[in-house]
Amino acid sequence: MRVIRTASLKPITKKTIAVIGYGSQGRAQALNLRDAGIDPIIGLPSRSRSRRRAKTDGFTVTTTPRATRDADIILLLAPDHVHGVVFTSDIEPYLRDGQAIVVAHAASVHFETVTPPDNVDVIMVAPLGPGKRLRELRGERDGVSCFVAVHHDHSGDAMPLALALAKGIGCLPAGAIPTTFAHEAVGDLFGEQAVLCGGLGALLEAGVMTLIKHGFPPHAAYLECVYQLDLIIDLVKSEGLAGMYENISPTAAFGARRTGKRVISPAVRNAMDDVFADVDSGRFFRSWVRAGAQTTDRKQLAPTVAREFARGERDVLQQLGEEPASSD
Ligand code: NDP
Ligand code: MG
Repeated sequence: MRVIRTASLKPITKKTIAVIGYGSQGRAQALNLRDAGIDPIIGLPSRSRSRRRAKTDGFTVTTTPRATRDADIILLLAPDHVHGVVFTSDIEPYLRDGQAIVVAHAASVHFETVTPPDNVDVIMVAPLGPGKRLRELRGERDGVSCFVAVHHDHSGDAMPLALALAKGIGCLPAGAIPTTFAHEAVGDLFGEQAVLCGGLGALLEAGVMTLIKHGFPPHAAYLECVYQLDLIIDLVKSEGLAGMYENISPTAAFGARRTGKRVISPAVRNAMDDVFADVDSGRFFRSWVRAGAQTTDRKQLAPTVAREFARGERDVLQQLGEEPASSD
């Protein structure tokens, strides 16, 4: 694996950067760029709820077409499912030769809801963490690293530009890891669905609900199956998966060996292949674009959580003084 930790900011100094969207990534990247000495302009629809926040933070806020016209580099940081409409109606008609389009997730370009013309650079700088952490840990060695990729190199200097942006938004020296649009688009969606968010959430819930079904109080089930998760993840990330198995008790290690693959069975692995096919073919992304156009209610988009699970969780979080993590 190649990790790039140093880069010149020069490709972006003296350039005008437009940040389209001012949410989790837009805000963090805009603020970090400003700290790096580059003051971006913010493009948002005139009725956007984010306008007030961007103005309060001291940025010039304008519409996406104006920001596109005024900028050399356009960071498209609106939600992925609207990239297609935003690009077609608010960006593409105003593009000039030699500008650069930058995304923080490759899906819309890879699955071709965004199809930029040949006379611009198309690059990706995708932080491996939420905006909040990117902001908090900007420029730190143990901060948020990023993937970088070039989809179209019109200028001949698209990679140095991507690395300058990686530095400007605070992902260096943590590290920029070169990849491709195809791998990031598919890998990110697969990872978050099958493992990090969808798979993990369903695993936690299934474990807790099994204990509840067998007579455990919800809080006890939660404490056994979820509460210590951060300690296990810390071990996995510091010692490796094998190191985690070595550091837990002999009883836990023996049990894990017997049971892990019984739960994550060949049937589950086959289901993962199905998930991969769904993502890789673009079927998932197309259905998300359609669903996202129909509702902006995040509650409606997310999986439901069993009532008993939520009860145990609430009991523990309230009484042991933990706050539920914020989602941004
Ligand atoms: P958010 O939902 O947090 O923010 C989206 C922003 O875009 C909001 O300011 C929203 O404004 C604005 N917006 C909505 N519609 C439009 C439009 N039509 N034109 C212009 N702006 C619009 O999104 P994220 O920051 O999470 O995601 C942005 C990108 O970053 C995505 O490509 C995502 O995959 C990527 N990414 C996100 C990560 C994360 O952890 N969040 C991590 C790495 C990459 P309003 O307030 O009006 O809705
Ligand atoms: Mg993602």
